[in-house]
Amino acid sequence: MIRALLDRVLPERAPKRREISAASHKISKNHMSRNAVYVCERLQEQGFEAYIVGGAVRDALLGVIPKDFDVATNARPEQIKHLFRRAFIIGRRFRLVHVIFGDETIEVSTFRANKKDEVEADATGRIVSDNVYGSQSEDAIRRDFTINALYYDPNRELIVDYVGGMKDVAARTMRVIGKADLRYREDPVRMLRAIRLAVKLKCEIARTTAAPIKKNAALIRNVPAARLFDEIQKLLLSGYANETLAALRSHGLAEGLLPLLDLIYEQPAGQRFIELALDGTDRRVREDKPVSPAFLFACLLWHEVVKRWQAIEARGEHRIPALLLAMEQALDEQRETITLPQRFAGVTREIWLMQPRFEQRTSRAALRLLEQARFRAAYDFLLLRAAAGEIEQELADWWTEFIESDPTIRQQLIDQRQRAQARNSKNKQRERTRGYNSQAVGIRDAREEREHVEALQDDESDAQSHDDDVAIATAGETTGTAERRKRRRGGRGRAKKRAEEFASSLDEAASSPPTASPAKEDHRE
Ligand code: ATP
Ligand code: MG
Repeated sequence: MIRALLDRVLPERAPKRREISAASHKISKNHMSRNAVYVCERLQEQGFEAYIVGGAVRDALLGVIPKDFDVATNARPEQIKHLFRRAFIIGRRFRLVHVIFGDETIEVSTFRANKKDEVEADATGRIVSDNVYGSQSEDAIRRDFTINALYYDPNRELIVDYVGGMKDVAARTMRVIGKADLRYREDPVRMLRAIRLAVKLKCEIARTTAAPIKKNAALIRNVPAARLFDEIQKLLLSGYANETLAALRSHGLAEGLLPLLDLIYEQPAGQRFIELALDGTDRRVREDKPVSPAFLFACLLWHEVVKRWQAIEARGEHRIPALLLAMEQALDEQRETITLPQRFAGVTREIWLMQPRFEQRTSRAALRLLEQARFRAAYDFLLLRAAAGEIEQELADWWTEFIESDPTIRQQLIDQRQRAQARNSKNKQRERTRGYNSQAVGIRDAREEREHVEALQDDESDAQSHDDDVAIATAGETTGTAERRKRRRGGRGRAKKRAEEFASSLDEAASSPPTASPAKEDHRE
């Protein structure tokens, strides 16, 4: 009580600055990007303070190769921009400078402060605007974790630590700076970062940092969907996606973040499918091979598409229009939490839409499929479905052989397939003729049964929209239930329209001549 009172009346004490000299830490300039070192030197020459900060210092200290470099300085954005040939001020809310060197971008930001009376927060305490400049020590304490708040001066080769980051690096501990509960309310993404970074860096999360996560997990829903996409993309492409998602689930953070993921994990086939997809991705990332977010999201949302596809078909819609509609509905639902950018969503759709086409193995259909620009991605997707036991392995093997063969063998494979199909349909015909008499007897019963099934389907579709409404109602967000229902209904109309537009754009694409030999193309490159 007295402490709280003192905190209010006394000015905040500046954190103590500790300098760690080159002899006492094990990083050197060689661990850093030459461009980042140059940016610091240039700023220092002009009399500014400049340090490499954040993830790069942390990674270097933990023996991980840093992948991007941030510089913090007391120079203002205009002053920074002025010193470099290719420098751009970006961001309206946080103005920072991107200094470009070929394909490397160094992000340079001015020291900022998290001053209680100068930041703007929403009703839950989430900071929506904090572009207040400050001192280096203020900049340090507004960062998220102690190990992320270390400053490296490449010129003097020393590390500056205000928050005990060096101690936590030595103990491999992730610890929030300040009170975790408050810091998560200010920015709920910090909870995701704690888990993602702990898995990637093989760190323990301090008890006081981990404990408030469950309680605050629902705040993730207040984060703008586009920002969440960036964070989720980092997570999925970290090389530890499977492990990180498992950790998120155990901290109660996956729920509501990827709502579809929860459903998927409830079905064993779905779980197997996702795990296989993420294993493949993790392997590729660790081998430093490119990975496509569109492919990954196609995997993550696939079982939701399949579920809807089956339900729409059961209501009497034809197979392909049903798939198109299911795709749009699944993407629409996902859009409410994590927005998949349009450039990815287009590829994701193409991968899905090619799946039923793999079943057509006539000469014309197979060869045309092979010519599609996204064939390779769609084929990899097919392999995953087979590995997860969702489709016959025979189908995947047939396509593998087809791709790898020369034109003569390809034709033989198609001929074999057509003969097998002809045999099958003859057998079916025979069975039908054999059963004709008994069917004729039961024809009246069959009609009655059909009418009964139709009535049930009508009930089911009513129940389905009811279930959706319940799901919306329990989502418990700020918008009223009735309004959300209306939005969802509108959303369905939009989904249908988009499905039609997408179908016609594909027809156009199909009628234009192919440009490359896609069987050789790697979709992830
Ligand atoms: P990664 O290895 O994923 O790049 P990182 O910690 O470098 O991890 P960045 O997004 O590059 O992540 O952020 C750079 C630095 O900015 C962080 O190290 C941290 O100091 C600060 N930072 C990033 N996100 C937040 C946040 N949500 N709240 C406070 N500080 C943050
Ligand atoms: Mg970084």
